Amino acid sequence: MDDFGPAADARCWFEPFESGGERRWPLTEVIYRDPETEGLLTVQHDMQRLKVRSAADWKQLFEDRSHTTEWPYGSGVWGKRELVCPVVADENIVSMFEGHTNLFWARRLGQALDIEDLWIKLCGNTHTGSFKDLGMTVLVSVVNEMIHRGQGIPAVACASTGDTSAALAAYAAYAGIPAIVLLPRDKVSIAQLIQPVANGAITLSLDTDFDGCMAIVQEIAERDGIYLANSMNSLRIEGQKTVGMEIVQQFDWQVPDWIVVPGGNLGNVSALGKGLLEFLELGIIDRLPRIACAQAERANPLYLSYRSGFEKFEPVMARPTLASAIQIGNPVSYPKAIDTLQRFEGVVEQVSEQEIAESVAHADRTGLFNCPHTGVALAALRKLRSRGEIGATDRVVVISTANGLKFTDFKVAYHRHRLPDIDSTGANRPIDLAADYGRVRDRVMQEIDRRS
Ligand SMILES: *Cc1c(COP(=O)(O)O)cnc(C)c1O
Repeated sequence: MDDFGPAADARCWFEPFESGGERRWPLTEVIYRDPETEGLLTVQHDMQRLKVRSAADWKQLFEDRSHTTEWPYGSGVWGKRELVCPVVADENIVSMFEGHTNLFWARRLGQALDIEDLWIKLCGNTHTGSFKDLGMTVLVSVVNEMIHRGQGIPAVACASTGDTSAALAAYAAYAGIPAIVLLPRDKVSIAQLIQPVANGAITLSLDTDFDGCMAIVQEIAERDGIYLANSMNSLRIEGQKTVGMEIVQQFDWQVPDWIVVPGGNLGNVSALGKGLLEFLELGIIDRLPRIACAQAERANPLYLSYRSGFEKFEPVMARPTLASAIQIGNPVSYPKAIDTLQRFEGVVEQVSEQEIAESVAHADRTGLFNCPHTGVALAALRKLRSRGEIGATDRVVVISTANGLKFTDFKVAYHRHRLPDIDSTGANRPIDLAADYGRVRDRVMQEIDRRS
């Protein structure tokens, strides 16, 4: 049970997602899709073997490892190493002790939304400021393992809406592996652009959207042997799936009623589901939460599919949205996302740009500092609550996907009333005043009155 690296190669493998486990490939093979059907792959673990350890022992093991500095278990991801990716040897793991992000009771925000038991999982409080770190530590570690086993991999590459590239650049730089990132020009924030630049990645800004960058990076991966780091690569899902596991661990192994998550390429909602299903199979939890996936109206292919009862799925042309990280019209992981939503009694909701901007600003006034994608989740939550789909006493967790500090350009524009077609009803402008006690006092008193 406890050997890692090559000794664990037979304990997990890639298999076709839709057609099951007849055909298998090792995790150290360069393969992204089923060569026969072009379908998605998934990572399958030898669950029989994992079940040898009791649920109580698993919980104890995870508790013992949490928040230590012991390599590599101080990471929220590698603390669940047996369930995530045992094939990487200790010395090849590329980790900056990601995960273990705070889950907190959003009391005032919950009161405003009439949800007493509202919690926020702040996935942006991690190394590169988004949940993408959780998956990238696994992918880059496997690449590092492959390099150390003598497989020639010249570089890793991804297309990104800004956060995947930041995570890839940082983890590749930590490992000393060359990274290439393809970004849609003017569609990521300044902070997101400077992250891979600072980490020394080959940073390409292309005159297209995310879907256009994705098409090119896939071609580079196929033709030129560069390793593809997009979430089509199911290794990332293995790291990202720890978010749901971590939430139940933080609740002393209790399962919340709802988890709300924004969706773009739909890897994250699938990962959330996969982790919780594995916990269920191991007896670590005894029920599942319901999952709500939130999309921007301007990039809503999953919502449209949901409205048709998932009868069909059609890509859309994603239009510009404040939630730039989810401006994706042709999400690669949609089959997995639909499967997750069907197993978790899932719902999909869509929200307008006005709703996104106002939800962010409102939640910020209760002490948060949200990214627009978290705004999408919060706006969807508001709708689901007001329709009565989510109850007033339900325990609800909103997954906040990135740190608001990456999106100050959006916040500045909101508070300056400069977002096109958005009515900034909660704008708060800094007040310019002479450095004079009397004027400052008068104005402060006036503002206190105005706000009370
Ligand atoms: C990547 C990302 C998402 C969307 O996740 P998917 O797996 O693409 O659905 C949401 N929010 C932020 C901040 C992201 O970086």
